[in-house]
Formats: sequence, C-alpha cells, structure tokens
Amino acid sequence: KKVLFSGMQATGNLTLGNYLGALKNWVTLSDEYECFYSVVDMHSITVRQDPATLRKRARALLTLYIAAGLDPKKNCIYYQSHVSGHAELSWILNCFTYMGELSRMTQFKDKSAKHADNINAGLFTYPVLMAADILLYQADVVPVGIDQMQHLELTRDIAIRFNNIYGDVFTVPEAYIGKVGAKIMSLQEPSKKMSKSDENPNGSIYLMDDPDTIMRKCKRAVTDSEACIAYRDEQPGLKNLLDIYCACTEKTTDEALREFEGKGYGDLKMAVGEAVVSVLKPLQDEVARLEKDKSYIDSIIKENAEKASYFANKTLRKVQRKVGFPDRI
Ligand code: ATP
Ligand code: MG
Repeated sequence: KKVLFSGMQATGNLTLGNYLGALKNWVTLSDEYECFYSVVDMHSITVRQDPATLRKRARALLTLYIAAGLDPKKNCIYYQSHVSGHAELSWILNCFTYMGELSRMTQFKDKSAKHADNINAGLFTYPVLMAADILLYQADVVPVGIDQMQHLELTRDIAIRFNNIYGDVFTVPEAYIGKVGAKIMSLQEPSKKMSKSDENPNGSIYLMDDPDTIMRKCKRAVTDSEACIAYRDEQPGLKNLLDIYCACTEKTTDEALREFEGKGYGDLKMAVGEAVVSVLKPLQDEVARLEKDKSYIDSIIKENAEKASYFANKTLRKVQRKVGFPDRI
C-alpha cells in the first residue's frame, strides 16, 4: 500500500473549510492508503496558545478525526508531540533548507503580519517541520487544501535535495487536492480563506455549530448587489456559497446553477445552510458519542503513538546514518 500523511493544527475549532478541504478527503482516501493522520500540536505553538485550551482542542481534534469516519485501528491517528522523530528530523532538514526559501512562504508573511509581536523562529521554520512530518513516514501522497500547496512544493524540493546528496532516502510526495472545497473562503470577507484562527466567528462555520447558528451565518454571508446568481470571480461571496453547496451536496456547479436559476440570494443562502446542517449533524452526533468513551480514546492515543514511532524511527535512523551521526551501540 502507498503511504499517506496529513495533519491539522489544534489552533481553534475546526471550520467547514478544514472539513471540505481536508478531512472529508481523508476519509475517502483512507481505504486506499496506509494512513498517518496527525494532530500537529507542535505546529500549533508557533502562535501563542493557552496550555489548557491547546490540550483540550488537541483531544477534540483527535476525536473528530475518528468521528468523521477514520477507523483508528486501520489509520494511525496520533499527536505529533508524542513522536519525537518529528522534532529530530526537523532539525536535520533545517540544515538543508535555505533562509531565502522560507522567506518566500506566503503563510509566514501572512502570519507574521498578523502576529507582529511574536515573529518567532518556529513560525519561520514551520514548513521544515511540515516537511519532516511528511518525509518521516515516506508518504507518497499528502491531501491538503490549496493554501498548503507552497509548503508541499518546498517539502518536495527538500526531499529531492537530500536525495541528490545521499541517494534515495526519501519518497518525494505528491499533493492531493480535492475537486471541490479545496479553498473555502470567509463568509464575511470572501477574499480571505476561512481559517479556524480567524477572530471573527461569523466568517467561519465551525463543525460544532448548532443548526440555528449555521443558518444565521449563511443568511448573513456577504454577497454583492448584482442580484443574479452566477459563478464568477467578480462575485466571490456567491462563488464561495456555490462551492460550499456543491461540496456538501456532491452536485456539480452546473447542476447548482440550474437549480437556482431565477431564484434570489436568500433562497441560495437557505439551501446552503440546510446542506451544511445535514452534513454536520451526523458528525456532531458521533463526536458526542465518542466523548463519553474516555478509555477508548486513551487506548487509541497510546497504541497509535507507538505505531507511528516505529515507522518514524526507521526513517530517522537511516537519515542519521546518512548525515554521519555515530551508530548507536
Ligand atoms: P490556522 O488559521 O490556525 O492556520 P487553518 O484553518 O488554516 O488554521 P490548518 O490546521 O492550518 O487550518 O490546516 C488544516 C488543513 O485544512 C490543511 O490541509 C489546510 O490546507 C486545510 N484548510 C485550511 N483552511 C482551508 C480552507 N479555507 N479551505 C480548504 N481547506 C482548508
Ligand atoms: Mg493554516
């Protein structure tokens, strides 16, 4: 089986963007690949976090992976911080990554503008840790949203650079971008992507939002004054609503446009809200059920950290040997 790696940060409550851009694809791909799905808590601290909140969110995120349909007996679902190989490989890869490459990363530019009081070295080397996450498991494929494409390109460059020096050590991974939902935009500012760390809660639909909240957020979504339902860049708010609708109902854009021909924005917003509610309801019920089973989740955490460490260490030992670290006796 080919190997798949992906992860999410425990930086906030998951949004519909995270679900449609990533988690939903993970579930579809999980039968076909040997999968590693990580809660990347080490990435989370590149932005200041409250410790108790981070711990709580990390657990909620791991539970959500399972609730979304990832079988933790078949997929390795674990906390990044429980597998020390991520940090160890990350250090080595830092020495094979150029400052110039990292300076070009748009996520670094965005996040350092947003957190000007805390532009730490971790925020800068974030993509190197991400490269380590992926290369540690010799992943063939990495399902991500479009916003992570630049980081994935860098991961490939680092892998190729390392392989050119030391021989074939790393598998060079490919991105997997889903057909729909690869970039869901904020409902309030459709020029910005929906983000779980956004301060304005009305811009994002959270996976745990109740039906009334979802309907309200959809009704208030920013559109335009054209009063005509079309799918085009000049109407970004509407385009985003149609993308959400199609991703939730598995319809094509053409089908959706036909369905809303001659109808108003209000009708579309209602339909989007209802489609989102019906996708999220089963997920929310499953989360509620799993949260009651503490010992089950605990056992998953322990087992999977061991399993991930086993695979991680295989790559790590090989890399350490290649770069010239002394053998262990
Ligand atoms: P943060 O604001 O803290 O960076 P985030 O919402 O960007 O949070 P991440 O944990 O960075 O979430 O990313 C998790 C996954 O979700 C990645 O695969 C990313 O590409 C995807 N993703 C994030 N936002 C969107 C979006 N708006 N549309 C589609 N996919 C997204
Ligand atoms: Mg992000």
